[in-house]
Amino acid sequence: MSALDALRRPRARPTLPENGGPGSRLLEVSGLTTRFDTPDGVVHAVNGVDFHVDRAEVVGVVGESGCGKSVTIRSILGLVRPPGRVVDGTVRFDGVDLLGLRRTELRRLRGKEIGFIAQNPFSALNPVMRIHRQFGTILAAHGAKSDGEVRDRARAALADVGIAGPDRVLDGYAHQLSGGMAQRVVIAMAMLLNPAFVIADEPTTGLDLTVQRQILDLIRGLVREHGRSMLLVTHDLGVVAQYCDRVVVMYAGKVIEHGTVREVLNTPRHPYTQALVRAIPRPGRPLVHLTGRLPDLVDYPTGCPFRARCPHAFEPCGHVVPEAVTVASGQTYWCHLPEERPEEREAVR
Ligand code: SF4
Repeated sequence: MSALDALRRPRARPTLPENGGPGSRLLEVSGLTTRFDTPDGVVHAVNGVDFHVDRAEVVGVVGESGCGKSVTIRSILGLVRPPGRVVDGTVRFDGVDLLGLRRTELRRLRGKEIGFIAQNPFSALNPVMRIHRQFGTILAAHGAKSDGEVRDRARAALADVGIAGPDRVLDGYAHQLSGGMAQRVVIAMAMLLNPAFVIADEPTTGLDLTVQRQILDLIRGLVREHGRSMLLVTHDLGVVAQYCDRVVVMYAGKVIEHGTVREVLNTPRHPYTQALVRAIPRPGRPLVHLTGRLPDLVDYPTGCPFRARCPHAFEPCGHVVPEAVTVASGQTYWCHLPEERPEEREAVR
């Protein structure tokens, strides 16, 4: 059984709308670079990240904690605050340069064109404002004219995320909600203005396993049914296998491999991706965990950032940064290992 087959549950894929232009480019990130100035030195959090998301596509961003996934997302959304700063790169969304927008323009676009589902719903919700008023704040900024209109639209949004009895939720506060219910409210708010693009940053962190599946199924349903695109950040390759079309693998603030989920999980080419795939639970196989730690992002390593943990490191890895290698299918990875040394790659299949 392949890694992908082991993870994927049988599921019919919803039909995509034909008028949404599926397949055309929606988000293009190029050379994105973000630094944090700290007393210990400059943290190289995001280092020249390139990837894209097409219309009606779900792209997973995967990697260990601290590998730069969330900072990448926050850089795209203009949410990096001092001592962090985006120092280089471009982010084009539907042809618009996001990094060149003023903060107010970006805030408007975040609600209307891009829905953001944060990791922790309780930090996304205002603890001292009734849920109804929080919907009102979003809708008032986008033309809602009356309290009745706000309530009607909020009720409909909560019904879309499976909340029965929405008035009880609307009249309450965030602390009165369970984690799963709070995340449903955040999802309803993210979808409220019908965005074409959704960014979900580890949206099930802290929820129990059953609720995690429900939330991910819910998000995917809302994305697929409306022909939206999504960037789904996760540390779990099982989630990628289940919910994504393509995957971007990050390590030490860099993209080290990307391709379709099928290619990357069945034929991982970078040793880090291979290690992640080996760590997927599969019947009849022992789990193999990656040892070692991420490199120091202040004293960023020369050459390949995975070198200290890589079982295949050889002479050039210590001082030459690997170039991108793209195979015929489009799968791309950054590693010096030559293609004609397949033994390293066979081991994970
Ligand atoms: Fe390992 Fe070298 Fe490839 Fe880096 S470039 S992943 S150290 S073989």
